Amino acid sequence: PTQSGLAALPIADLRDRHAEYTTQYETLVARGLSLDLTRGKPAPEQLDLSNELLSLPGDTYTSPDGTDTRNYGGNKGLPALRAIFADLLNTHVDTLIAQGNSSLEVMHDLVLFSMLHGNNDSATPWVREERIRFLAPVPGYDRHFAVCAHLGIDLIPVPLGEDGPDVDTIRSLVAQDPSIKGIWCVPTYSNPTGVTYSEDVVNALVSMPTAAPDFRIWWDNAYAVHTLVDEAPKAIDILTLAADAGHPNRPYVIASTSKITFAGAGVAFLGTSQANLTWYLGHTGKRSIGPDKVNQLRHLLFLKDAQGVRDLMAKHRDILAPKFDAVLSILNERLGTLNVATWSQPEGGYFISLDVVPGTARRVIQLAAQAGIALTAAGSAFPGGNDPQDTNIRLAPSYPTLDAVREAMDGVATCVLLAAAEHALATHTATD
Ligand code: PMP
Repeated sequence: PTQSGLAALPIADLRDRHAEYTTQYETLVARGLSLDLTRGKPAPEQLDLSNELLSLPGDTYTSPDGTDTRNYGGNKGLPALRAIFADLLNTHVDTLIAQGNSSLEVMHDLVLFSMLHGNNDSATPWVREERIRFLAPVPGYDRHFAVCAHLGIDLIPVPLGEDGPDVDTIRSLVAQDPSIKGIWCVPTYSNPTGVTYSEDVVNALVSMPTAAPDFRIWWDNAYAVHTLVDEAPKAIDILTLAADAGHPNRPYVIASTSKITFAGAGVAFLGTSQANLTWYLGHTGKRSIGPDKVNQLRHLLFLKDAQGVRDLMAKHRDILAPKFDAVLSILNERLGTLNVATWSQPEGGYFISLDVVPGTARRVIQLAAQAGIALTAAGSAFPGGNDPQDTNIRLAPSYPTLDAVREAMDGVATCVLLAAAEHALATHTATD
């Protein structure tokens, strides 16, 4: 194999590099940093953008459709707020409902209700079946995988490419195996690679024959409007495509305002076929007499319309983009020519996905931890935490200040270099 960069250096040069990176690392440790790049949380300045919510809805409690938001009921949520998000998600207000504060909760409940009762196309509750499996495009979102692990559902990793998951692999798996009941998708600016699905991929997913008649797509459009460039891609109308392909019940479109307004006090949305909504609301109706409509009204008054959301997202971008730029330019400056890492250059979302020398991700994360820089656990973007190549690290630059992001990333680069030099030395020795 042709090699260049660090691993291709003559052994004496490699030893020099190892010594140089060790010194850099010792200096880093001596600084006693305490920095955290683990989770995709909005920074306090981002939350400040929505502080008006804290004094809304003021004395108003009636929504434009006349609903008294203080009272029970209205399990589909406020129509005027649903209309805003139907516009942004390119779906239909009639089949998009507004729920509580967490889209993860909606996704979890969709899985849970299916396990306990089966969905509206199931012959039996999923728990009664011998085995239930979901497809997991990887790298992916650890909390999706945790829902499955928690409920006894096995995950099958499938590779995520530049325009979505590998549809040939998916097609052949779902065609043969009726135990495969679902797939997790983050179609826009995916967590963690930033990939946006192409229309071809979406068409393949909604039209492919599945052995399971009750197969569903968890279409988690968490980052639909979270762009770092001028304009987010227009959301693909997956519900119409699925209906046209003869599978109207297949997609569950999910989103929330967690990274638009307040991460802990936003509004979540579910868009799906009328039949699926009837099924879902039949179950949620047993656990709640209705969502928090006062919070929905507060969001309606604050956001006003789809353009209001886009304008707010532009302010988020002003805060986030310099942090992403800092990560990318430090990676480029420190690692660019040494062939020790590749990384995503996302146009939106909350993450940068860093692939270090295979076999060193754990070591990089350990070195960083010892230097006071917390990184997401190794393998977290893979089912069971199992990154078969031990190569992937998810970087989340949103929460720390810009200075802290710079400091942390410079430290991470040092750890990547030291781990790569250690690995290259060990490989040299092994082949001597
Ligand atoms: N989906 C994805 C892909 C996410 O990255 C996140 C947050 N990190 C969520 C869902 C969580 O959404 P919510 O706050 O609405 O539960």
